[in-house]
Amino acid sequence: MALDLLIRNGTIVDGSGAARYRGDIGISHGRIAEIGRIRARAERTVDADGLIVAPGFIDGHTHMDAQVAWDRLGSCSCWHGVTTVIMGNCGFALAPCKPDEREWFARCLTAVEDIPTEAMLAGIDWTWETFPEYLATVERLPKAINYGAYIGHSALRMYVMGKRALAETATEEDLARMAAAVEEALRAGAMGFSSSRSPTHVTPDATPVASRIADWSEVDRLVGVMAELNAGIFQVGPDTSGGEAQRRFLARLKQVAIAAGRPVMFGTISSRQGDRPNPWTYQLEYLDECANAGARMWGQTTTRSINAIFSLKSYLPFDVLPSWRELRRLPLAEQKQRLADPSMRRRLVAEEATMKPRDNVFQGGGAATTDPRKPDYANLFAMKGVDWDDPTVAELSAQRGQHPVEVMIDLALANDDQVFVQPLVNEHPDHVLGMLRHPRTLATFSDSGAHVCQEMGSSLQTHLLNYWVRTKRAFTLEEAVRKLTFDNASAWELNDRGLLRTGYRADVVLFDEAHVRPSMPTVETDLPGGARRLVQKAEGIAAVVVNGEVTLENGLSTGRLPGMLLRGPGARLA
Ligand SMILES: [Zn+2]
Repeated sequence: MALDLLIRNGTIVDGSGAARYRGDIGISHGRIAEIGRIRARAERTVDADGLIVAPGFIDGHTHMDAQVAWDRLGSCSCWHGVTTVIMGNCGFALAPCKPDEREWFARCLTAVEDIPTEAMLAGIDWTWETFPEYLATVERLPKAINYGAYIGHSALRMYVMGKRALAETATEEDLARMAAAVEEALRAGAMGFSSSRSPTHVTPDATPVASRIADWSEVDRLVGVMAELNAGIFQVGPDTSGGEAQRRFLARLKQVAIAAGRPVMFGTISSRQGDRPNPWTYQLEYLDECANAGARMWGQTTTRSINAIFSLKSYLPFDVLPSWRELRRLPLAEQKQRLADPSMRRRLVAEEATMKPRDNVFQGGGAATTDPRKPDYANLFAMKGVDWDDPTVAELSAQRGQHPVEVMIDLALANDDQVFVQPLVNEHPDHVLGMLRHPRTLATFSDSGAHVCQEMGSSLQTHLLNYWVRTKRAFTLEEAVRKLTFDNASAWELNDRGLLRTGYRADVVLFDEAHVRPSMPTVETDLPGGARRLVQKAEGIAAVVVNGEVTLENGLSTGRLPGMLLRGPGARLA
């Protein structure tokens, strides 16, 4: 029998963590048919000599719910070797949703996740109401990567309770309807149920999102539906407002996890923000304690700091100031002209002194760009490359004998694409490494599809390979690949992905281990309706294969769209 695709002579890192070996991979009907020295003929052969051949990367924390409707490739994740994403995290989703509430849902996603409402209204053919209908839509959409989705608590609560969801405790009738919808979603193939208690998650009116109004007994009830079916994951955005609040949150979450017996996931971060934050080690010890007490608990971590990203073409920290606001409304060329004018510059620099002082209120990428505090210039980096050894604006200011705002203006004038990076959490690489090394954390949490002009997490996979494997030698390549593949496939119960083994789905990434790295981020206006976003591609990724078809070659689309909707284990009960 002829193979559909033969990947010949690569160095196979199979996702299990086992040592690499040379071999060929034969693919037939979207699955791995043979591994070894293959003599069978193939429809198409890819020469992988000198390349690593690994399972496609899996990212479990994304917000691609809207983007899947207009971006067939699944960028920016696809450029970093990602072949499967899970969306609908943190309670935010586009289903279930009544037709007359679509715009409100879109505006909520804009408020929290910086997904432009104009892009959603222009780019989505919004035909669904229920969660199963949304899944059916995703299944039909042409796509180059695989998608799984949670049913989101805020969406569900709004659907069942209307505007009461933003203020009231659920009645027994509300609870029964929400529980029925969770069950329906799981049986249709939801990956689980997601929620949030994060203080950064607010509506367009700056009030808490619906999931934050829910009391814990509501969470018990809805997670209990998953326990009843023995299917689905509970993902929740943690309370990060302060140490005390987080400890209360974690203690209650532990009870949910023990009672349900289902996997529970939340973001583990190292933070100086918030009121007397708990150290990152507290969260790791908590993961172990939960496991000892019988919970299946995972910490989601990323591979570096989570950052607010500033540039002339997107946000600058000063945009909220009166003279800046006026300036920033102008076309880019005119802004640059005025920025070069000495008297204008003096005014712009002087206004910075009136900014809100820094405080200990936890700010994510949203508030950090739309409601900024006076920057800490010693924690604001002028990005020169992707090796995370950039100078701070404070250092440049001292070197040049210039006010930090002037430094930023000069750099932006010299290069429109100059990017400034302000770490929000995970500032210390050692803390990131400590979290990544813990056996109960997952390397995920790109937030891909969200914070489109505020953060850039989609490169976490190539950062791991470039920085932690090649530069720091903190992990072997085999260990790092396992983190991005088998570990995540196991946590999300994607039982035929995440390994290169006979019978597994043929999601494969081919890369050059000596050169794989993220490219520099840029601001592009390629969203539907012309809205802007940060774009970050990668170098060193030679090819990506999804369900047996080559989707990308040297970062360019082949036009093939073999991505699938992944239905969670609850679908077996349908
Ligand atoms: Zn999220």
